[in-house]
Amino acid sequence: MRRIVLTGFRGTGKSEVGKILARLLNLPLLDTDQLVEQKTGRSIPSIFHEDGEERFRAEERAVIASLPPGNAIISTGGGAILDPKNMEHLRRESIVILLTAGIDAIEPRLARAPRPALTSLPLREEIATLLDQRRQHYSASADLCIDTSETTPQEAGEKILHFLREGVPNVAQRTKALAFFRTGRIPPRALHQLEEVLTGAGRDPQTRIMGVAGYPCAHSKSPALFNGLFEQYGLNYHYTWFEDPAISRIMEVARDVDAKGLSVTIPFKADVMEYVDEVDEHAARPIGTVNTVVFSCGTAVGYNTDWLGVRKPLIHLKGAKAVLLGAGGVAAAAAYALVDLDMDVTILNRTPAKAKILADRFGCKFADWDAFDAIKPDLVVNTTPLGMEPDTRSPLKDAQILPGMTIYDLVYTPPETPLIQAARKKGCPTILGTEMFIHQAREQFYLNFGIDVPDAIIRELVA
Ligand code: NAP
Repeated sequence: MRRIVLTGFRGTGKSEVGKILARLLNLPLLDTDQLVEQKTGRSIPSIFHEDGEERFRAEERAVIASLPPGNAIISTGGGAILDPKNMEHLRRESIVILLTAGIDAIEPRLARAPRPALTSLPLREEIATLLDQRRQHYSASADLCIDTSETTPQEAGEKILHFLREGVPNVAQRTKALAFFRTGRIPPRALHQLEEVLTGAGRDPQTRIMGVAGYPCAHSKSPALFNGLFEQYGLNYHYTWFEDPAISRIMEVARDVDAKGLSVTIPFKADVMEYVDEVDEHAARPIGTVNTVVFSCGTAVGYNTDWLGVRKPLIHLKGAKAVLLGAGGVAAAAAYALVDLDMDVTILNRTPAKAKILADRFGCKFADWDAFDAIKPDLVVNTTPLGMEPDTRSPLKDAQILPGMTIYDLVYTPPETPLIQAARKKGCPTILGTEMFIHQAREQFYLNFGIDVPDAIIRELVA
């Protein structure tokens, strides 16, 4: 059995459900709020009142970092999930259960047991505002959600026990899912592991599934990376390939196996938007594609982390004059990132009409491919597949690469493309496509688990 951690907004029943679970499972209950009070010798309202929320968060962080690793029920304060370091400690070798409730249930509970105000808003507005601000963090913290709006703590405790024994998907759902996975091109060893996870005699019902959704996606580096991260952070998850020509089928199976999330790749980044319940502000209108789906408490939310993967290695080039080569799906995410960095962006594409559409969408310029030499950009971002194995062509002639130009090639197979090699020969700064993969994957992991992985760990796992 793993340690059980309860997260959720104040008033969702963590303390009461914690006591019931401790009794039912005969385990000690550790309440991080109480531990802060014991450690400081002060009440939480007095820490908030005299030293402010920051001080409380620091004490809470110290308490969470020193929690014992053994079996116990841990009840956390409502804001503990906001800190990625807390998530790293709380998630390790644990099952994190998110307790939720509607405002109509939370408000009277909090009115009965007053706690320090976190904002200057009236209670109901404070609850609504904080729930909204913390929503993504709560969802990232959850291995299981229990809505306590209309259940007693005893009923919630019994539901949790049922999950611990059985997991969420039933036999029929797991068997159906396995039939689906057998039609994809999962390597034999990985398929065998998946069979064990879903239907094996020694199956751990608490193991959750994640995966990459694409067609084809057998080449994806995501399974190796995510499974490596699960091991690194002690997470009871298994990452696999959801390879199928129909995204509708993939989403159905993902829901059937109660998948935690999906990394979405070609050709589904636009189509998947139809199959999620909500789309985040960046993915929704400006970019128009989703590369990350997080399922939580019955809701599938779509995000785009591609633009963050393009943006991160370019932060030092804010305001630069940039040329974007290509006007396809990834180019939209790249254009959004470059514009976000206040760059002067010109889009060049084989089909100029598509460059114009993209340029109009993001307030960029567009030009014919031949206009490249006249622009003399500080930065070139290649989003065309030119240079991707087995293609050995470069989108630019060597003579077009001028000293001082930064060249960012989003193609990452091979890591050192002909364009990158030519730029290096000229002594130009270069950024490999693996950088985009690393940074977008780091954001995906954060959205799913609330843990901020150092770049070095991801680099080592994708090497
Ligand atoms: P896409 O939607 O198919 O767009 C491809 C773009 O490249 C289009 O603008 C297309 O021009 C242009 N193009 C295709 N073949 C060309 C050629 N022979 N000569 C000149 N232009 C050509 O593809 P995408 O989803 O945007 O992906 C593009 C590339 O990004 C992929 O090949 C992949 O290597 C890379 N990528 C990297 C990462 C990463 O993590 N580093 C992630 C995703 C994708 P037309 O409009 O004229 O067709």
